[in-house]
Amino acid sequence: MIQSKQMQRPKLVLVVDDHEINRDSLGVILEDDYEVIYAENGKEALEEMRAHATGLSLVLLDLMMPVMNGFEVLEHVRQDEQLKAIPVIVLTADKSAELQALQMGAADFITKPFDMPEVILARVGRIIELSEGRQLISAAEHDKLTMLYSRNFFFEYANRLYNYHNDMILDAVVLNIEQFHTINALNGRDFGDDVLRLIGNEIRAFLGETQGIASRFEADSFEIYCLHQAEYRSLLKRFQEKMDGLSPNANIHLRMGVAPFHEEVEPVFLFDRARAACNMARGDYQNPLMIYDEDMRLREMLDRRLLNDLRPAVEGRQFQVYYQPKYNIQVDPPRLSSAEALIRWKHPELGMISPGDFIPLFEGNGLIGVVDSFVWEEAARQIANWKSRFGFTLPVSVNLSRSDVFDPTLVDRLVQLVEDNGLSYKDLKLELTESAYTDNARQVLDVIDRLRRKGFEIEMDDFGSGYSSLNMLSDMPLDVLKMDMKFIRNIEQSETDRRLVSLILDIARYLEVSVVAEGVETEGQLAILREGKCDLVQGYYFSRPLPAADFEKLLERELEKERNRSI
Ligand code: C2E
Ligand code: CA
Ligand code: CA
Repeated sequence: MIQSKQMQRPKLVLVVDDHEINRDSLGVILEDDYEVIYAENGKEALEEMRAHATGLSLVLLDLMMPVMNGFEVLEHVRQDEQLKAIPVIVLTADKSAELQALQMGAADFITKPFDMPEVILARVGRIIELSEGRQLISAAEHDKLTMLYSRNFFFEYANRLYNYHNDMILDAVVLNIEQFHTINALNGRDFGDDVLRLIGNEIRAFLGETQGIASRFEADSFEIYCLHQAEYRSLLKRFQEKMDGLSPNANIHLRMGVAPFHEEVEPVFLFDRARAACNMARGDYQNPLMIYDEDMRLREMLDRRLLNDLRPAVEGRQFQVYYQPKYNIQVDPPRLSSAEALIRWKHPELGMISPGDFIPLFEGNGLIGVVDSFVWEEAARQIANWKSRFGFTLPVSVNLSRSDVFDPTLVDRLVQLVEDNGLSYKDLKLELTESAYTDNARQVLDVIDRLRRKGFEIEMDDFGSGYSSLNMLSDMPLDVLKMDMKFIRNIEQSETDRRLVSLILDIARYLEVSVVAEGVETEGQLAILREGKCDLVQGYYFSRPLPAADFEKLLERELEKERNRSI
C-alpha cells in the first residue's frame, strides 16, 4: 500500500521592499513554493515579523528603504531573542553593503536585479534548511569573549563569500599567541582573557577598515578572512603593539600565517595553509610572519604523495636500513664500538628520499610506528646475523619517535624482539630525542624507566637542541648523551662552541653517563673531542651511513685490524 505523504503547509516568507515591482517579481518567483507576505519598509517588516515570530521561515529584506532601512531592521532583529532566530536574506545591488549586512547577522544576499529565479529559489531553500538545522543544533554564533564568530559559523560565512563573491580577493590569515598556556599560568586566566579580548577588539577594528570576517577557536587562535592586503607585516605589528601596550613585562609574542587567495582553494583548505604557515613561524621571534608560498605548496604536495605511498613502500620493500659506525676515540687507534640504524627510502619514482623529509611527516600523524617497527626488526635481525657469522656482537642503536613512547605495547614488543633474535638487551640500544623527554615528562620517564629496568640502554639524542634544565637532567633516566650536531659543526673556528662542548662533557661526567659526538667530519674536530675526553664519535670522518652489505665490509676490515693488533 502506498501511503500518501502528508500535505505540508507551505512555509511562510516575508518580502520587504519599498518598490512594488521588486515585491511583485519576487512574489512571482516564490509563490509556487511558499506562502508570501509583504512589507513596504523596515517598520512594517518588524511588525510583520513580531506578528508571525514563530511561523516565519525567512525574510527577504531590501536595504535601502524609507521610514526604516534594512540595516536598522537587522540591528533590531539582532537584539531580539525571538526574532534573531528568523534568517534574513538581504536584497541589494551594492556589494560592499552585503558584507556589512552579513556582519550584522544576515544569512545571505541576493543581488538585484532579480534575473535568475532558479538561483533565488535555491538560495531561499538552502537558507531555510540551514536555519532549521541550526535551530536544532542551536550552536552559538559568536564567541562570547571576543564577539568574533564561532568556528562553524565562520566557515559557513567564509564559504558563502567564496562561492558568491567571485570578485573579492580574500586571503586567509591565522594569528596565534606564543605559549598562551604559559601566559595564563603566569598571569592568571583573567589576564589571559584580557589578552584575547584585546586581540578580538583590534581584529574588529581592522575589519572595520577593510572587509572581512573573523573567528576565534582553540583558545588562542584567530582566523581572519579579509580582503587581500599589500603586506601583512604592519598588521602583525599593529596587534603586537597592542600586546606590548597591555603589559610590556608579560612578554606576549604573536605570530601570523597568511595564505593568499587562490580561486581553486576553498576557505577550509586555504585556512589549513595559513595555519601551516603560522606553525612554521612558531617560536621564531625574529620572523613571526610567514606567508604560504610556492615552496610550501610543493612541500604540501610532496607530503600528500608520501603519505599515499607509505603502504606500498612497506609492502614493496622500498625501505632499507643503513648503518653508521660509532667509534670509541679514547683508545688509539679508535675502535669500532657500535652502530646506529638509519632508515632510507628508495622511492621508485622520486629516488632516494631523506628521512628528514618523511620522518617528521609520519611523526605528525602516527604512521611513524610502521616505519620504526620495520627498522627495529631489521636491525635486530642484522645484529643476530652478524653475531652468528662473525662470532661477535656489534650493538646497534635504533631511533624511537616520541609517539612510540606512548604506545602501550612498546616495552613488550621490544622485549619480544630481543628474545626472538637471541640477543641481550644491551645489544639493541634505543635513541630518543631530547625534546621527547620534556614533552610529557611523567609518562615518558615512566616508559624509559621500564625499558632500562629490562636492561635496554637509552641514548638521549640531539642533546642541547631541547630545553632540559640541569636539575631536570639529573632526574632523567638515560645512559648516554648524544650531543647535537650543531655543537660540532664550528667547533674548530668558534671558541664559544668549544666551551659549550666542554660544558656538555662536564655535565655528562657529573651525570656519570658517556657522550657520543655526532656529525664529526674532520681530523681537527676529532682531536678537540679526544682532548675533551669525549667517549664516542659518529660521523662522516669515520664513515657515512652504509647499506648492510657495505657495512659488513667495514666490519671485516675492523676485525682484520683487531686480529693484526692482537698478534
Ligand atoms: P639523527 O638520529 O640525529 O641521525 C643522525 C643524522 O646525521 C643522520 O641523518 C646521519 O646520516 C647524519 N650524519 C651522520 N654523520 C654526519 C656527519 O658527519 N655530517 C653530517 N652533516 N651529517 C651526519 P639521516 O640518516 O638523514 O637521519 C636524519 C634524522 O632522521 C635522524 O637524525 C633521525 O632523527 C631520523 N631518523 C632516521 N632514521 C630513523 C628511524 O628509523 N626512525 C626514526 N624515528 N627516525 C629516524
Ligand atoms: Ca639518532
Ligand atoms: Ca642526533
